[in-house]
Amino acid sequence: KMANEEELALANAGKDENGDSIFGKIARKEMKVDLVYEDDKVMAFNDINPQAPVHILVIPKMRDGLTRLSKAENRHKEILGHLMWAVAEIVRQKDLGDFRLVVNNGPEACQSVYYLHLHILAKRQMKWPPA
Ligand code: 5GP
Repeated sequence: KMANEEELALANAGKDENGDSIFGKIARKEMKVDLVYEDDKVMAFNDINPQAPVHILVIPKMRDGLTRLSKAENRHKEILGHLMWAVAEIVRQKDLGDFRLVVNNGPEACQSVYYLHLHILAKRQMKWPPA
């Protein structure tokens, strides 16, 4: 079993910007995933380590410098809107009802993969504040 989420996030902290990412391999179809949604610009797939009965990750097909949300620039406005729209579309298509949308930005937020991704969590009662 892997290290816990906090340890993993700290171990991967230095990988920001440098080289490839597992989600790059997924986006280029070099790695198989449990695909949930796909169009020309984004794709969504089930998380391998689900934190809720439904746990879907939504990613842009091109990282284009978006290792984390705080790297967003003017040119990213369209893809960021498209990602949010895709969340709504997936939730409608799968009839998920209420859901939580999460973006972890950096080690302190437990980001472990440096390729922008949105977490859709659904089908259980959530808590607030998140841990
Ligand atoms: P982060 O902690 O960076 O916000 O989220 C990364 C997420 O990616 C985690 O929830 C983790 O379980 C998931 N993940 C990591 N590697 C893979 C993989 O190879 N396939 C899938 N489907 N999910 C992955």
